[in-house]
Amino acid sequence: MADCLFCRIAAGSIPCDKVAESEQVLAFRDINPQAPTHVLLIPKRHVADSASGLEPGHAGLIAELFGLAARVAAQEGLGGGWRLVTNVGPDAGQSVPHLHLHLLGGRALGWPPG
Ligand code: AMP
Repeated sequence: MADCLFCRIAAGSIPCDKVAESEQVLAFRDINPQAPTHVLLIPKRHVADSASGLEPGHAGLIAELFGLAARVAAQEGLGGGWRLVTNVGPDAGQSVPHLHLHLLGGRALGWPPG
């Protein structure tokens, strides 16, 4: 989608601090990090605005998102633990309507998150 920030990052027309990629997924550092490691994992293709738009046909992509998250966590040395978050809609604070996971780690994250 031409007016979607993460589509433009995936296309390379807006720069990002890339940490890893797989066939369908791009991982890059969040511009406003909430933890020492804060990486976003996005499908390169705009399959859904959020997790609420996912369908059974996206199963392979979802596995790839989680698989790349685990790879990045290992790459970042997060042996002590890490967290995946996906915000859906305004009450959750979602600001970019392109499905994405936040990978957070590098400090004690606390639970519940607040
Ligand atoms: P969410 O609020 O869950 O939709 O997450 C969107 C995230 O994208 C926020 O944590 C922002 O800090 C991050 N963000 C926005 N613009 C950029 C950018 N150009 N590069 C990297 N991260 C970004």
